[in-house]
Amino acid sequence: MTSPSKKHHAGDLLFLKRLNRSAILNLVRRSPGMTRADIATQAHLTKATVGGSIQKLLEAGWIVEGELQKSSGGRPGRALYLDDQYHTLLGAEVGVHELRLVACSLTGRIIQQRQLRLTPTTPEVTAALLAEQLHELASHPDIACRQCLGLGVAVPGPIAPSRPLLRLAPNLGWQDVPFLELLRPHLPALSGLWLMDNEAKAAAFGELYFRTGNVPSSLAYISAGTGIGSGFVENAHAPLVTRGIQGLAGEIGHTILQPDGMYCHCGNRGCAETLVSGWAIRATLGIGEEENLAEALRTRQQDPKVKTTLRQAGGALGTLLLNLHHTLNPSEIVLGGSLVQLGAPLLAPALDYFETNQNRLRGTMDQVRLRVLDDSTFVTARGAAAQVLAEAVQGFIDTP
Ligand SMILES: [Zn+2]
Repeated sequence: MTSPSKKHHAGDLLFLKRLNRSAILNLVRRSPGMTRADIATQAHLTKATVGGSIQKLLEAGWIVEGELQKSSGGRPGRALYLDDQYHTLLGAEVGVHELRLVACSLTGRIIQQRQLRLTPTTPEVTAALLAEQLHELASHPDIACRQCLGLGVAVPGPIAPSRPLLRLAPNLGWQDVPFLELLRPHLPALSGLWLMDNEAKAAAFGELYFRTGNVPSSLAYISAGTGIGSGFVENAHAPLVTRGIQGLAGEIGHTILQPDGMYCHCGNRGCAETLVSGWAIRATLGIGEEENLAEALRTRQQDPKVKTTLRQAGGALGTLLLNLHHTLNPSEIVLGGSLVQLGAPLLAPALDYFETNQNRLRGTMDQVRLRVLDDSTFVTARGAAAQVLAEAVQGFIDTP
């Protein structure tokens, strides 16, 4: 990266300023506590350029100065951090049975959160309900005092590659829904960016983007709930979600584990979802959608049919974990979603299968980390908020 010089046109100068701003914000985001001198060294910028950009970022509430500390430049400098107090990012997840919302700071700290149970209904009714919740959230005194950078919405299905269109949400019965267009008229005052993504992709993105310190080089998130999806993110420096040409990358719930198996909502037979998903477990055990699955099963733990169903579902989940490991080989796999609450009867056979079989390709598991999230309630909504920040840092909205 170079510093602006007199020979550049005004447009080039603006472009360079944005590029420098993005580079500086990304460095401070990933390595909180850097000094101006550290940044100049790492971003290959002059100290004067860094100094000027940082002054603007301080004034605009993007970063704050902390304690004095040693730096690579010799003289001590002020540690720099993302400003946790000035901006906010809104994130929302449209789940099959629930709406979940967060308002985050720039560091991914959740300032306010809320959730609302709902019975699956039309996109229009869902948009109106979500808008009401978002309006309440944005009006909360802790949020209304902040500058809002925008809203990210995560939905349970693949997104069209070229525009924000939810292609298919089989567990909601929705098809080709321009959900943001339905939401926008309800929230005329909500400023900033408006983004939409698949729920597992948003969760994967947030899990990598808001990480500081020992950041994995790539990460896969498995969302195990009513359905099963996954997201894969590479490049910790500028995280990029793998999408595929039709936005279908990561739809592991519809990879086939039993070619002659049960019919799935998607029309194929023997998809992973027919063996391990909230809907398949409910169907096998006769548990209605109005009941909380984890609570319903807690009272039936000794029922042999429950034990068998969860053991088989766990085996299928273990197969998916191993297939994901061999397909994408991420440095970290994160398992979240409401099925994790079913605990050991489901997870023990899954992890057992994964750990028993992981070393068949010798030595492949040495650097792979599997994390199971006990509580992933707001992981997806927070990930949608992370995507807003990433776009804002890239300069897609007009900030200094
Ligand atoms: Zn399927």
